[in-house]
Parts: sequence; C-alpha cells; structure tokens
Amino acid sequence: MCGIVGYTGFQDAYDIVINGLRRLEYRGYDSAGIVLEDGNNKLEVEKTKGKVEDLVNISSQLKGKAKIGMGHTRWATHGVPSDRNSHPHLSNNGKLAIIHNGIIENYDTIKTMLTGKGFTFKSETDTEVLVNLIQYFMDLNAETDFPTAVRYALNEVYGAYAITVMHEDYPGVLVVGRLGSPLAIGIGDKEYFIASDASPFVEFTKEAIYLEEGHMATISLENGVDIRTITENSKIIPEIQKLKLSLEQIEKSGYEHFMLKEIFEQPKSVHDTMRGRLLVEEGVIKMAGIWDHIERFKNANRIIIIACGTSWHAGLIGEYLIEEYARIPVEVEYASEFRYRNPIITDKDVVIAISQSGETADTMAALKLAKEKGAFIYGICNVVDSSIARITDAGSYTHAGPEIGVASTKAFTAQLTILSLIALKLGKHNGNLGNADFMSLIAELDAIPKKIEDVLSSTHELVQNIAKDFVNATNFLYLGRGYNYPAALEGALKLKEISYIHAEGYPAAEMKHGPIALIDENMPIVIIAPKKGHYDKIVSNVQEIKARKGKVIAVVNNGDTQVSEMSDYVIEIPETSECFSPIVASVPLQLLAYYIAVYRGANVDQPRNLAKSVTVE
Ligand code: GLU
Repeated sequence: MCGIVGYTGFQDAYDIVINGLRRLEYRGYDSAGIVLEDGNNKLEVEKTKGKVEDLVNISSQLKGKAKIGMGHTRWATHGVPSDRNSHPHLSNNGKLAIIHNGIIENYDTIKTMLTGKGFTFKSETDTEVLVNLIQYFMDLNAETDFPTAVRYALNEVYGAYAITVMHEDYPGVLVVGRLGSPLAIGIGDKEYFIASDASPFVEFTKEAIYLEEGHMATISLENGVDIRTITENSKIIPEIQKLKLSLEQIEKSGYEHFMLKEIFEQPKSVHDTMRGRLLVEEGVIKMAGIWDHIERFKNANRIIIIACGTSWHAGLIGEYLIEEYARIPVEVEYASEFRYRNPIITDKDVVIAISQSGETADTMAALKLAKEKGAFIYGICNVVDSSIARITDAGSYTHAGPEIGVASTKAFTAQLTILSLIALKLGKHNGNLGNADFMSLIAELDAIPKKIEDVLSSTHELVQNIAKDFVNATNFLYLGRGYNYPAALEGALKLKEISYIHAEGYPAAEMKHGPIALIDENMPIVIIAPKKGHYDKIVSNVQEIKARKGKVIAVVNNGDTQVSEMSDYVIEIPETSECFSPIVASVPLQLLAYYIAVYRGANVDQPRNLAKSVTVE
C-alpha cells in the first residue's frame, strides 16, 4: 500500500526519488522518507510523518548530492504514523537502510531473537526488524556479502513484502525482493529505477521488469540486474516488458483533482473497455478470455465473484447481470470472508476476481484458495500484469487507464462494462438470450459512453449546487432497487470515503425494516429511481420518506414527473435498459460525493486512512 522508489545511475537521485514518491503518494501516505548515499559511503536519511511535501520541506539540502537513493511513502500497519516509524529504517550499525511495503508476520519472534543478541530498536515497525536481521547475517559471517545476507533474512520471514535495501559499503547497489507486494524495475541506459508501479520512471524508460513472487534482484551499475529465487538462489532470466503507460495518463491535465479528471474520463474509459470487444455491426462480443474457456463457463455449477470494496459492488451488479442473461447461479463474496470461512469450492466452479489494482491482498489470497480447490479462475483487473492478472487462468483487463484518485470511479464503471459484456456473451452462447434481445442490448451498451458524456455536461453544475446544501450533513442514506441497489451502496461508499460523512446504502424496500427510524427533516436521502426498474415501488418508497420529512435527492430519467414532484432535488439522466442504468446513475453520485468533499475542504485524492492498492489483509 505504500510507495517504494529507488534509483541508481547518473542523474540526481533526490529529484527522481521525490518526484517518484509524488506519483506514488496515492498508494499510502501517512509518512514519507528518503535515503541517499552521497558518494562517500555515507547514508543520509530524512523522514517525517506527513506528506511528500513535508518531506521536501526538511530534505532539500540533499538535492544534488547523490546518484543512488530510495524513498518511501508509508501506510502504517505496525506502529502509529510518526517520524520514528517512517521509512527508511537503518540497521543498528547504520550501514544498511531498508524501505518496505507489506507486513512481516513473524517479526515479533525475530525481534525477540535479535534483542537477545543485543540489537535495539528505535521504531515499532516490523520493517526495522528485517533490516537488523540482514545485519545479523552479515555480522555472523564476514564472508556473507550484502545480497546473500538479504536472501538469508528473507528466507526467515513470512508475510508480504516488497523491499529495497541499500548498504553504504556497496556503492551503486540496490537489493530488492518481493513476496505479495508489487515491485517493478525500470531499465534505462546506465541507470535503473525501482518502484511499486511504473509511474515514477515512465518518462525515463519504457522497459521494465516486473519482479515475480518469491524473487529478489541485485541491481548494480556494474553488473546490471541479477535475479534469483529467494529460496533456492536459482538464477532467473527476466522478461523485459515494454511499457505502454504515458506521462499524460498519470498527470492531472488541468483538473483540480485526479478524481474529477477520472470522473470526466468515463465516456472514454467505458468506450476503451469495449473497444475491440463489442462489435455492434457484426453483432458479436469478442472476448478471448471467455471464448477460449467457454466450456468451463457453460458447464459451471455456479460462478463465485470475489472482491472487496467498490469492486465488490461491481460484483453484485455482475450477479444480477449474469443471472438475468446467462441464467448461471452467481454468488458474490467479500474476499476477506471467503478465504477464512472454509468455503465449499469444486472444480465445477468458476471464480471471477475483481480488483482495480490487481494487487488486493485479500482477493489474491481468496483466489489462491479457490485455485487450490480446482476452480477455474477469471480476473477482472485494471492494472496490466498485476499479481492477480498473472495468477488467473484467464481474464479481461478493464483498460480504464491509470486510476490515481483513491476513491474508485472510472475503474468501477469499466468493471460494470466488462461484467455486462460477459453476461451478454454467455447468455447469447448458452441460448438464454435470444438474438433480437442480444442485438438491442449491445446497441444500448454501445451508446453508454455518449450517455455518460451527456450526464456529465447536464448535471455538473446542478450537482455542485446541490452539494453546497449538504456540506454540513452528518448522515446520508442511499436507496435503490434491483440493479441500482448496489449502485446505492457504491454511492454511499464514495461519500464516506472522501467526505467522511456517514452514509449507508440500502435496497429501497429494506428501508422500512430499520433505517426509516433515522429519517427526519435533517436526513438527506439519495434515491435512484430510473423508469425501468421497479419505478412504482420506488414511488411508494419516496412517499414513505416524504411522510417523515426526509430530504430527497432523486436520480431519475429525463422528463420524469412522479418522483420528481415529490423530491427536493432532481438529477436527470438518460434512459437505458435497467441492467446498464448503474453505469449512468453512478456518474452524478460520484460528482455529488466529490463536490461535498471539496466544499468540506477534504483531501479528495488522498482521503485519510485510505490507500489505493490494499496490499495488506
Ligand atoms: N509494515 C510496515 C510499517 O508499518 C510497512 C507498511 C507499508 O506498507 O507502508 O511500517
């Protein structure tokens, strides 16, 4: 969840590390730190609780001093965010520095062992234990060189990590290792970059190695990149990937926040998700991942969708879609619950994992479990070559482009688009969806990007005005029925995540089984009420709310009258089939959450306590 950046080469390491950290700040950001080796075999460390800019304020004297260095943005797991717990951590002899993403689960036992040998610890982190374990192995035998000591230490720990380590007596050398957390190595001309993802080095090189699980690498200007397995020390010939990422994709392009940029990118991102897959004129959906394994899907006893957070909401909509059109039973599970509840999985099951980052630790672990039990594993990820994408049997990338804002927007609508394509493809193939219906549904899906564009232009200003009236709200309810029940959950989650206002999503009919007790004249209730989708029932729900003086913000179709007349605020969206309406209805809800958060002065792109890529359990 943290961000790791490293550099060895001929440029100013300070600039590269700091700029890289700025780009990775979305991953986790309660503290930041940097270490450089100044050419005189001396490590210089600066670190602080706070943002990368706080680090810049205390470290500018390091600028121009070194050609090797590394930096970290932390998302605390062991010990509060504080200067002392920030990374890098030094070993007791001051010679080794480490940055770490993840959790060393057996750190306590090792700490006790090391304490017994006279080691002392300045922080509460698991990370400081690991760097001292490396020193311990070097102290134990003078013959043990730095990379070997890292390997010995990694063989003693379990948990999840991506680490980068420097040693002041090994100028120009970085040692990295990974298990469970991502790590990319950028290969330049006489320079190397390390990062949690490729964004920190994309303007310097388009060639990268994504370190595999259980591998480590010694990177030096003299000998290049030497990759080994951690357990066996077997040499690995790496695959060098060509990066497609551009600098423009990871910059704000004039928007105030990444989140707003990403909301506005949705006409394009949804279109990109369908590009080459949805061929309306030919009347086909081309998805190699599904088609190559169509028998597995056809013969599946059931499909289990595994996900967390926003992706879990997409999964719920996927359940409605697949059950409606392909008539295959679907269960949707929180990955974190699924993996620990001894689930019944057979080789007749198809498991679909949804994860924007493709690194979500709980989803990854749940997938491994399902795989062990013989299920067929399908991935829906946004990040190409991510860990989940690599362990699945097949899958579809969402192709939404990099999503930097912590609160997911365009990745969510892209996930819904993929799930729509899967449901329609399977339904057509297994005969549950007739040709005429299939043709009209794909034509409608094809029109969704344009509808999102219309919603963005027709509701942007209106939603800003609505948001102003709710800046001081303390609670919100979000209600929807059918396909729009999960859309209500997602609307509530967006608001919670970035504005810190308490919000709950409910199926509209459930309101009377509890939440109705909360309704009074101070309670704002967002209600998603498109024409197609149990409209009459929703009308009754709105009446029930108004009878209790709740403030209704209704998302309705253009030209709606009945719900609109009863509502305090009306947001109009174009009509679509019910199954696609969450894609369109989510857009004004994203804007509403965004503007309420902005008016409350919240840090929209980096909400407190949250991280983009949740690589711890
Ligand atoms: N477990 C480490 C810590 O608490 C690293 C956390 C991270 O991934 O940022 O410091």
